Amino acid sequence: VDGEEISARLEDMGHEYVPTGDEAELIIVNTCGFIESAKKESIDAALSIKALWPDKKVLLAGCLAQRYPEEILAEMAEVDGVFGNADLSLIGEAASKAIAGQRAVIAPPQTSVISEPYYSRTRLFEFPGSAHVKITEGCDNRCTYCAIPLIRGGLRSRDPEDIFRECKDLVAKGTYEINLIGQDLGSYGVDFKASGTRPAIDLPGLLKKLSSIEGDFRIRVLYIHPDHFPWGILEAMAEDGRLAPYFDLPFQHASERLLKAMNRRGSSERYLELIARIRSALPESMIRSTFLVGFPGENEEDFEILKDFQRRVKLDWLGVFAYSREEGTPAYSFKDRVTKKLAAARKKEIEDAQGAITDERLRRFIGSSIRVLVEEKVEGETLSLGRGWMQAPDVDGSTVLDGDFAPGALVNARILAVHGVDFEAEPEDTARGEGS
Ligand code: SF4
Repeated sequence: VDGEEISARLEDMGHEYVPTGDEAELIIVNTCGFIESAKKESIDAALSIKALWPDKKVLLAGCLAQRYPEEILAEMAEVDGVFGNADLSLIGEAASKAIAGQRAVIAPPQTSVISEPYYSRTRLFEFPGSAHVKITEGCDNRCTYCAIPLIRGGLRSRDPEDIFRECKDLVAKGTYEINLIGQDLGSYGVDFKASGTRPAIDLPGLLKKLSSIEGDFRIRVLYIHPDHFPWGILEAMAEDGRLAPYFDLPFQHASERLLKAMNRRGSSERYLELIARIRSALPESMIRSTFLVGFPGENEEDFEILKDFQRRVKLDWLGVFAYSREEGTPAYSFKDRVTKKLAAARKKEIEDAQGAITDERLRRFIGSSIRVLVEEKVEGETLSLGRGWMQAPDVDGSTVLDGDFAPGALVNARILAVHGVDFEAEPEDTARGEGS
């Protein structure tokens, strides 16, 4: 979303967007910076871009730039400027300085409010028909391992009217899928309540408001901290089929002792009960989570609790991360560190066990018809790739459709089989767009 806003702002200032570095004067690398592997990937991307186009200016933007602005400028001669993510309206100045070879740092600290209304994005970097919409910035949860609040600041919820206008605009322009994002969507509106100066609203209230938008679309809610699940969203989803019963609940662990050390309040029992309640209210629910293994102090008993939880909860989708020791976080100084080798082995064990669980969960859809948003054609074959409501972009499996369909087309299709993490589906009819 930040990349799209940066692009729109520059285009509005008269700059031209070009698809490859060959034609560019300035290349902006929008980075991630919350764990070691993401930092490395970001730096490698910037270096390989400069190696490919040594005559072009490279502006390093995003979370890594916000977190280490001066260090990047001092240590990366390949970079022609550093631009943080606290105030994207300054991109014009950052771009001009980088183009002029001034090697400037523009990375003011995060503010405590979201003052500006949304900036209309002209170019979405998603596949056609899909968009991400940010509803909050920052996070107040302060999990002890997490650097995100250091980078993005404390929680600031966006004005509900502003979110409504943006979603309505996107739907009017033909967007079918809207993925609501933020660090923890369950916290939406908590800061309004605390300040007392804004209208009281929470995530269920926001979903009900978005439900009043007319049209053919689906909304998926991503990332809800499981310790304060906003129960009202179940009712909103039950009332409007366009609100996908998709839940992304990053449990991180199931051992109460370890969760406490992470500054989280859950336990295996509490999380099993949460999932049982969701599944009983909306039996078709799709549940995604992430686990964090190798946190300081994680012993064999904790790991057994996590594996037992995994076997019992039967998540539809699961991502597993090995703990990354981040400076500036409380856990940085925690004792009893787990070796990287052991953390990697635990990660693999969980991932290996999840294959069969995901397979079993996906099989319940065989024989049912779903609406597929086509992302792309498979080159050299008469096949297309798309996603149903149960498949979030980038992280989940896909639906493989028999036939050539244009990206952005909506196809009603019957699921015939599960292959790995993907569905094989037979098109029934095209709801929107071209197909064959
Ligand atoms: S809720 Fe998520 S973003 Fe917020 S501190 Fe915890 S892990 Fe970080």
